[in-house]
Amino acid sequence: MERIQLENTVFEGQNNAYLFDGDRTALIDTGVGTDAGKIQLEQGLADYGLSFADVDTVLLTHYHGDHSGLASDIQAVSGATVHVHQADARLVAGEPVAWDALATRQRDLFDEWGMPTVTKESLVEYLNSGPDLYGESVDVEPFVAGDVFDIGEVELTAIHTPGHTAGLSCFATDDGVVFSGDALLPVYTPNVGGADVRVDRSLERYLKTLKTIADREFDRAWPGHRNLIEDPTARALEVFEHHEVRSRRVLEALQRLGLANAWEVSADLFGDLEEIHVLHGPGEAYAHLEHLEHAGDIERTAGGYRLTPDTEERLDAIDDEGWPL
Ligand SMILES: [Zn+2]
Ligand SMILES: [Zn+2]
Repeated sequence: MERIQLENTVFEGQNNAYLFDGDRTALIDTGVGTDAGKIQLEQGLADYGLSFADVDTVLLTHYHGDHSGLASDIQAVSGATVHVHQADARLVAGEPVAWDALATRQRDLFDEWGMPTVTKESLVEYLNSGPDLYGESVDVEPFVAGDVFDIGEVELTAIHTPGHTAGLSCFATDDGVVFSGDALLPVYTPNVGGADVRVDRSLERYLKTLKTIADREFDRAWPGHRNLIEDPTARALEVFEHHEVRSRRVLEALQRLGLANAWEVSADLFGDLEEIHVLHGPGEAYAHLEHLEHAGDIERTAGGYRLTPDTEERLDAIDDEGWPL
């Protein structure tokens, strides 16, 4: 396996595509679908004497353009089979109905979060005006958890790890290595709540994903961005704790604000946000509020969320530590 590192100034920073070149040639993820991204991936393959035309199989961790964006270019010249989890398949396939439904869900949620109209309008414009990261439509072969891909050099088993997107999946070898996409990252924690608004109770799903990864006790994880994760279990537990601390911050924000919507909690936690963070900040706040509401820790009223009297007491009683999730 070879790692091809790709620059990406659009999302979380440097992207990885993973190349397998046994009797068949396969890629996990492709990098972003921009002209610059394409040149970089072509160069990365050329370093191993390969071109897009040689690629037989593309495994996608999820639909986001920084992972799937070049699948259509590769498929156009090689006829490669492109696999993606069934929950993300229609977006990668470029089905207008699926993209329209996503856009509608975003607008509905922006209202539910309490985003001011002027912000909502500029965010929608931003989301529609960015460089086209997604490439053309792709002929996709959907998979489900447990499907095994024999890609020549190695066999990879799909693990469904939703939260960040509905279909996000990792690919595991049978000797302790996992390709974790955006499910587990070394530096940032992947956004939940805003990154794929189709996912309901996204934090709950993501916490389960972290437990799934931790329980597997992988030897190492190759992530979708940045460098090797040498202790995936420790990293998964660290991200879990990060969310416990974040939930506590959300509760403290409600303690200060009394009654607040996701937009107000986001502003309290993160201040003014720009570009994609205008989506991710309130999305993250919403993911936590939704989770806390479901756990009975907070109540939702017409005017926003508020602490239950019981939570107010518990919060005062515990020291400055995370809220157990
Ligand atoms: Zn992503
Ligand atoms: Zn990503």
